[in-house]
Amino acid sequence: MSRRVRATIHLAALRNNLARIRRLASRSRVMAVVKADGYGHGLERVVLALREADAFGVASIADGERIRALGLQNRIVVLTGIDEPGDLARMRGLALEPVIHHESQLDLLRSEWPVPLQETTSRAPAIRGAAQLPAAPRSIWIKVDTGMHRLGFAPARLRGVLEEVAALPGAPTLQLMSHFANSDVADDALTSAQVARFDDIANLPSPLPQSLANSAAIIAFGGSQRDWVRAGGLLYGISVVAGQTGADLGFAAAMTLTARLIAINSIDEGEGVGYGHAWRAARPTRVGVLAVGYADGYPRSVQPGTPVLLQGERVPIIGRVSMDLVTVDLTDLSSAAVGDTAVLWGPGLPVEEVAASAATIGYELVCGMTRRVDFVEDDS
Ligand SMILES: *Cc1c(COP(=O)(O)O)cnc(C)c1O
Repeated sequence: MSRRVRATIHLAALRNNLARIRRLASRSRVMAVVKADGYGHGLERVVLALREADAFGVASIADGERIRALGLQNRIVVLTGIDEPGDLARMRGLALEPVIHHESQLDLLRSEWPVPLQETTSRAPAIRGAAQLPAAPRSIWIKVDTGMHRLGFAPARLRGVLEEVAALPGAPTLQLMSHFANSDVADDALTSAQVARFDDIANLPSPLPQSLANSAAIIAFGGSQRDWVRAGGLLYGISVVAGQTGADLGFAAAMTLTARLIAINSIDEGEGVGYGHAWRAARPTRVGVLAVGYADGYPRSVQPGTPVLLQGERVPIIGRVSMDLVTVDLTDLSSAAVGDTAVLWGPGLPVEEVAASAATIGYELVCGMTRRVDFVEDDS
């Protein structure tokens, strides 16, 4: 049989995680962040599972187009907004809402707003369901930089921007948002300072709907939940809070990555395993070989000893992860047999733990599955 690395996506976990976020942020609407192909889980299956979300957050117009092609009518916010002439027209045709965070985007707004709907209908036939969309709400999200210093208008500029945008023909509806730099650290002073700065500038004569919290802030900074929370990681069951996995927080892993055990070989004490003989046997050892490697997206940088689950038991990786293969120590798992399925991460083995061993975060691992990985859905 050909090698098969499989990413099983648990649709019930996605739904349950959304429900849990709703309970934790019961006064807020939930924007389900599905950028990067639904954090690597597959955009279409993720948005269909999360169709109850109040909005989807994407990073590109193309992602919005994929969602509309499914016939879904949820609000869709393009988190990085518009870059080029014509983007607004495309977005209007698809009823996508831009985030405006920079003067260059204001220039585009000034020159292209209001966007007549008929400009875009030539593209519409490809979009199933577009005809039934309500007249695109002319909604705009304004992003203010409260201290992350990545995207957003400076606080001192905000009033001027809001006045200018509110005065555009058709009076667009506005929402105000900002993003945290450090909300994965509990009691972090920077996050508190960002909230205070936001409250200072959001104190407007006619207050706008507000959005601040990402996944970590939903958990650790409840006061930042406001009108909209923007949840990514937790929907997929992944936490970025150091030392706390999504499972610890009551969320379920939405991806299980598995591979086959394709060989078991015995070596003598003192022998080395794999490239560079990076690991050497301190005892006679049964070496298991799994058909998965960094070309599938399993990180080469994991520390030796990183666990893999076989028959529900943890066994340690030995030697270097190579392109197609990973070696594990099966000496203490005598029942392991060629043909067994190994779990690289999933329920029972948090991706956060594997990520920590590779000096990264779980998000990067689930976003990094390559094209030769088979995706399957589990709806049990
Ligand atoms: C990705 C993203 C989020 C979601 O962050 P999580 O940590 O995955 O919850 C929220 N807001 C913005 C602007 C983002 O880019």
